Amino acid sequence: MNGIMQGKRGLIMGVANNHSIAWGISKALAAQGAQLAFTYQGEALGKRVKPLAAELGSDFIVPCDVEDIASVDALFETVGERWGSLDFVVHAIGFSDKNELKGLYADTTRENFSRTMVISCFSFTEIAKRAAALMTDGGSILTLTYNGSQRVIPNYNVMGVAKAALEASVRYLAADYGPKGIRVNAISAGPVRTLAGAGISDARAIFSWNQKNAPLRRTPDIDDIGGSALYLLSDMSRGVTGECHYVDGGFNITSIPTLEVLYN
Ligand code: NAD
Repeated sequence: MNGIMQGKRGLIMGVANNHSIAWGISKALAAQGAQLAFTYQGEALGKRVKPLAAELGSDFIVPCDVEDIASVDALFETVGERWGSLDFVVHAIGFSDKNELKGLYADTTRENFSRTMVISCFSFTEIAKRAAALMTDGGSILTLTYNGSQRVIPNYNVMGVAKAALEASVRYLAADYGPKGIRVNAISAGPVRTLAGAGISDARAIFSWNQKNAPLRRTPDIDDIGGSALYLLSDMSRGVTGECHYVDGGFNITSIPTLEVLYN
């Protein structure tokens, strides 16, 4: 197969099912000739990820729970043994206790704050470090974030704080690894109906608000996000690092609701 990802090998972390953002990204990459390895969190999700990987011609699937650093180390050991090097990584992982994705941010517990930060933010740094060691010929590392990092979005709470730290991590990692030709970027996606998205209270109302008020009058689908990820993971974006690229139909540029919404 010919394509702009021909000859490139990458690791996709965060496919749970065929609604996952990471799945949209995987399809876009595979369509351009990339060779993919997938991780899955736990055996139940593994049963879903295996046939999806096979659909894209991959039999390389490895368990990894980022809360368990031994499993992260084992993952990169396996990738190193099988491939020797790596060209790109997608980190599409996030988690917080859904009981705290509602109500006041101020009520976040210490336990869930730490857990959310480790899974949704620090895991990116741990993964980038291990991936960079395998990126002997440069590379591209991508994570997923949400505008709740920059603005207050009801119920997003501690995830917003974790995403703000994640976006700062992107900038620091981009500075760390730039001299090695390794680029680090984020996509800030508008709301998408996924397992993780469903954990946030009032997700439906926020989804519909975005559809009504985004300049494009719609929310992104996983293929929209896949297209932008393809750009950031390919050599097409070779001069870009440390960026947070919005794929949200333009919602982030708006201030007040549209006039249609205001007057109806
Ligand atoms: P999803 O539920 O399909 O994917 C989330 C993934 O995180 C799952 O594959 C899950 O297994 C993984 N994960 C959670 N805890 C983990 C752990 N301890 N170890 C390993 N993996 C773990 O949902 P999604 O919406 O595709 O989420 C992907 C990323 O996109 C997340 O970072 C999310 O915050 C971000 N994002 C989502 C939206 C949205 O509206 N859905 C918007 C912007 C950003």
